[in-house]
Amino acid sequence: MINQLQEKYQLSLLLLLSAVAILGVFPFVVIRFLDGNVSAAIIDMALVLGIIALVGYAFYSKEIRVTSAVTAVFVNAGVVAISIANGIGSFLWAYPVFAATFILVKPVEALCINAVAGFSLVALADIFDTVSMDSFVVTILMVSISAFVYASHGVKQFRLLETLNTVDTLTGALNRRAMSSDIQAALAKSERNGTEQLLAILDLDYFKTVNDNYGHAAGDQVLKEFVTITTSHIRKYDRLYRFGGEEFVLLISGVGEQQQTFIDSLRAAIKKELKTPRGEEITVSFGVAPWVPGTTADTWLQRADEALYLAKARGRDRAVFSHH
Ligand code: GH3
Ligand code: MG
Ligand code: MG
Repeated sequence: MINQLQEKYQLSLLLLLSAVAILGVFPFVVIRFLDGNVSAAIIDMALVLGIIALVGYAFYSKEIRVTSAVTAVFVNAGVVAISIANGIGSFLWAYPVFAATFILVKPVEALCINAVAGFSLVALADIFDTVSMDSFVVTILMVSISAFVYASHGVKQFRLLETLNTVDTLTGALNRRAMSSDIQAALAKSERNGTEQLLAILDLDYFKTVNDNYGHAAGDQVLKEFVTITTSHIRKYDRLYRFGGEEFVLLISGVGEQQQTFIDSLRAAIKKELKTPRGEEITVSFGVAPWVPGTTADTWLQRADEALYLAKARGRDRAVFSHH
């Protein structure tokens, strides 16, 4: 979910950056041309057209990450080219371009692109008769490093936001918000490819007595252990969500014929490992709904819930599969 958010954000940054670049660079196409500096005018024009083409491609293809990376390399190469062609009159563009690179790609990638462009400028641009090379190196390094620190901080904050937005604070399982968007994605995947998937609701048996006998804090601890145990027995692409209280949802894909065995061994593992503070076993009931064509989020959850109801009614500590 957060990736979609990040992609939208990246796309709007790409658009904003290119609007600024186009508004900033285009007047120079005219100025260079009127000055008779045709080669610089052509390079500037190529930069403007290249940026428009890249942003257009990003909108059309939705390949935001790749297009952003190409744009970063393109504008860095552009600033080297224009500094070589136009010398002192254009090299100041290096500063905004170097900083903007950190908006387009990951901080380490931006630092590498800046380093290559910086070395190329020092080696190839004919500006150091007029500008002190030492000053240029120190100031451009300061720009790059400041942008790097700021961008790295931004990445960390984004990750924190992602965690806060999708993870249940008590248990560390994914939360309901993440569940809703993942169920939609899972449904879309199965509708496209017919991928076999299961949605299971897991409900701890007689959990109220754990609270009654040992207190709410011990109950909380059992919920945390339940999540640790369950997570360690499911596969990398399976997902566990806290549905509410002591009910959890498990989203499993691609178990095929093995689904009954998979669920039974998970149930057995939880029964073996999950204990009250005094070591009594805690069991779990499963209501399992395999995906069938035409399933919606509501009907999927409802079928799993009906199966769970049957599992409880038939004595708990069991899994019931929904067959419609
Ligand atoms: P059943 O086998 O029918 O599921 O019995 P149960 O006792 O588990 O079912 P019930 O739904 O009656 O009780 C669920 C209990 O879970 C009630 C509530 O106090 C407890 N509970 C819900 N959320 C939390 C929580 O975050 N922490 C703790 N400690 N208890 C919780
Ligand atoms: Mg319960
Ligand atoms: Mg319950």
